[in-house]
Amino acid sequence: MKHIKYRFSSSSTDFYFAYGISHLKKITDPGATVLITDENIFNAHTKRFKGWNTIVVNPGEEFKVQSTVDSIIGQLIEYEADRKAVLVGVGGGVITDITGYVASVYMRGLQFGFIPTSLLALVDASIGGKNGIDVGVYKNMVGIIRQPSFILHDMVFLNSLPQQEWENGFAEIIKHACIKDAAMFEELEKMSLKKYQSGKNDICRLVQRNAMIKAKVVKKDEFEKNERRLLNFGHTLGHALENQYALMHGQAVAIGMTYACQISEQLIGFNQTQRVTNVIEQYGLTTYSSFDKQKVFDVLKMDKKRERKEMNYVLLEKIGKGVTKSIPLSQLEKIISNF
Ligand code: ADP
Ligand code: ZN
Repeated sequence: MKHIKYRFSSSSTDFYFAYGISHLKKITDPGATVLITDENIFNAHTKRFKGWNTIVVNPGEEFKVQSTVDSIIGQLIEYEADRKAVLVGVGGGVITDITGYVASVYMRGLQFGFIPTSLLALVDASIGGKNGIDVGVYKNMVGIIRQPSFILHDMVFLNSLPQQEWENGFAEIIKHACIKDAAMFEELEKMSLKKYQSGKNDICRLVQRNAMIKAKVVKKDEFEKNERRLLNFGHTLGHALENQYALMHGQAVAIGMTYACQISEQLIGFNQTQRVTNVIEQYGLTTYSSFDKQKVFDVLKMDKKRERKEMNYVLLEKIGKGVTKSIPLSQLEKIISNF
């Protein structure tokens, strides 16, 4: 167990690494707290929710929309939740995004915390204060940056996590290694998904290491002016593919990282693409794949990271060192059409 406080610009987040959900009652008063989770997690861990007011929503990204927000708000009113209420999102990235969003608008803002239950949420989605919902094909179109007061990790939730969700989470872990942590990249090369799943200590250490990488990057640049952009490695093309082909986020990001390595070779002389693609495959993720270049580019150029006629693209100088480079859209279009 490890307790760390991270201070962000206007608030701080308490991290409780490797605690149990039973510790939650020491952080927040059960009488004033409402947990928000999804059906999959609730069904697999019903007993852990005993004694807590709980709102259960439908699982999956397609429910990260305004109608789910409306339904949660309706249930909060039924619970007579007031401005002193605390919302706790217990779930994957969809649940943490939506909980932070509801908590930011209900009665003009409640306190909130997270118990991330998916690998992706543990290492990425729960950290950094980006909360929001999707609108049509546009992911995270509406939302707010607001930090949770606490994030508590209970690794027991991972026991029920489906295999493809493990792979999804590893895409972000590989991303962190590529942009920030060459030593962790070497650990990933030596280990395997099976080994991480069969022990407790290795995955626990890996999750903490990744959560701290993300928290540090966010702390440096909460509102995404420079450093935080590095976290978009693999995501520019990844998001476009995810929208067009209904891929899992991690699979799309893995493909995006593969082509970002290629662009890095062309533009800044990166020469370790093979090692990156080997690790991506080692963790059950996809590398090169065929897609409709024009269609994907048309979606890509609408990315939030575009600035007029240039796109901020995250490239690798070497493994462990990501950099951002502004690429003119016309040049990017040419590069992508030649993939
Ligand atoms: P993310 O991949 O961003 O975490 P979700 O919140 O949609 O996105 O979670 C992915 C899927 O995994 C959902 O279907 C969710 O219900 C399920 N899930 C998350 N955590 C667990 C868990 N600990 N056990 C079983 N299923 C889980
Ligand atoms: Zn991601």
